[in-house]
Amino acid sequence: MQHPSTKPITRDEWRRQQDACHNPGCKASLRSGDIMDVHEIIGGPIRSKTITMPETWIFLCRRCHEHETSCPSQDRLVRLLTVKQWADPEHSNPSAVIRLWRPKCTKEFLAEMLNAVAKEYAKIVKELQ
Ligand SMILES: [Zn+2]
Repeated sequence: MQHPSTKPITRDEWRRQQDACHNPGCKASLRSGDIMDVHEIIGGPIRSKTITMPETWIFLCRRCHEHETSCPSQDRLVRLLTVKQWADPEHSNPSAVIRLWRPKCTKEFLAEMLNAVAKEYAKIVKELQ
């Protein structure tokens, strides 16, 4: 966890800390010469905001990146939040990202989404065993 008084990490600093594609099971990495991109889990009209929020960044190889959009569906958002939790738990904050995606969502909806992320996480762990 980051100390609250420390300066938030910049996108460039974060990028320099990454190597392998965050997509579980994908073997692409900078080290093996693959082209890698930083993807905002949510972008589109709020990209100017999410580009400064580490909790929305995932590191993807170009091939995985091509499948993503800047406005994910609900299922896709669950998957991407899980990928973030899996690959970069230090900067993961699913609740904050869900509230950005649906600013007026209910507590029940938020809980349902977090539960879906936990289930998806368990699935990834099982798949990679
Ligand atoms: Zn990949």
